[in-house]
Amino acid sequence: MFDLTPYNTFGLQVSSTAGYVISSKSDLRHITDADVLILGQGSDILLTEDIEGMVLIDNIKFCEISDEDDCYVVKVGGGNILDELIAKLVDLGISGLENLSAIPGTMGAAPVQNIGAYGVEIGKYIEDVECFNLISREVEHFSHEQCQFGYRTSYFKEHKEHKLFIMEVTLKLPKGFHPVLSYQGIREQEFASPKALRSKVVELRKQKLPDPKEIGNAGSFFKNPTVDAQTYQKLKARFPDLPAYPNAEGSYKLAAGWLIDRAGCRGITHGKAGTWEQQALVLVNRGGAKPHEIVALARYVRAEVQHMFDLALEPEVRIFGSHGEISWEQL
Ligand SMILES: Cc1cc2nc3c(=O)[nH]c(=O)nc-3n(C[C@H](O)[C@H](O)[C@H](O)COP(=O)(O)OP(=O)(O)OC[C@H]3O[C@@H](n4cnc5c(N)ncnc54)[C@H](O)[C@@H]3O)c2cc1C
Repeated sequence: MFDLTPYNTFGLQVSSTAGYVISSKSDLRHITDADVLILGQGSDILLTEDIEGMVLIDNIKFCEISDEDDCYVVKVGGGNILDELIAKLVDLGISGLENLSAIPGTMGAAPVQNIGAYGVEIGKYIEDVECFNLISREVEHFSHEQCQFGYRTSYFKEHKEHKLFIMEVTLKLPKGFHPVLSYQGIREQEFASPKALRSKVVELRKQKLPDPKEIGNAGSFFKNPTVDAQTYQKLKARFPDLPAYPNAEGSYKLAAGWLIDRAGCRGITHGKAGTWEQQALVLVNRGGAKPHEIVALARYVRAEVQHMFDLALEPEVRIFGSHGEISWEQL
């Protein structure tokens, strides 16, 4: 048995039949089974039971930075910790990723859901993703266009049946400091350097989100729902203080955290699971929670939001049962 407790930031005590920590690209040549679960730090997943099968942990670590005419090209292993990379880059005065500071997880997972925060998504800077196809056993490269980045999605997320293990990510970071300051909390200030902006982002995130090293969680549990204009107008009439962000095509993005809060679910505790007091969108392990307690809490929160707003929240975290990824409906 392979203990997965250190590889899921909810801190749930689960295991898999087998597991390998992949430390170099050549390690993958020894893996003959394609029916595996690939993990980095497990900060975007909920494991609902023990996994029947093999888990591969991406721990391929290296970082090569080359100075081109107008940009820096950064080649980084899939097992590198994103936040450690950002700290290193800002120390060197290289900017672009500082808005993504303090997001947990590995570089290998970052393109999968095109991670984003404070108006920046990693996909913008990704030039190439190198994968090992566990079925064909060939190395494959994906250009920026082939990655098909969207809001919290990508080719890798949409085509998980291809069993692509991300070994290396190449980033292209333009020279000069061009901060993205469109979000509340950072737009009110000026920043002299990428390092100063990173410090502010880290400070803001600490205020809002629990550190998984201290309290088990997987960040935002549900996605912010998008509704059409008619639904938005109806809700706005009932809840005049409803926060909403218009999308280009006329729909509206609603804040799932606000909906959960208004449905009376902020800071609640069910068994050993709960919702975070400062941000209701985050489900937490209050200590020793079992997977079924997190599942029961998620169901309760979803039902309360459905009851009050007639909206069905969808999970942002990826949910795994004993035989692989499952949808909310299969849970
Ligand atoms: C406190 C907290 C705050 C967060 N804030 C944000 C935020 O602001 N924005 C945001 O976008 N996300 C956020 N997240 C979610 C999470 O940090 C990201 O999704 C991160 O990229 C997950 O990295 P990981 O290594 O933990 O991936 P895992 O959770 O281990 O894996 C996530 C998915 O990627 C796949 N995967 C992992 N590694 C590989 C690989 N090498 N090759 C192929 N597939 C792979 C897995 O199979 C799984 O489906 C937050 C999470 C937490 C706990």
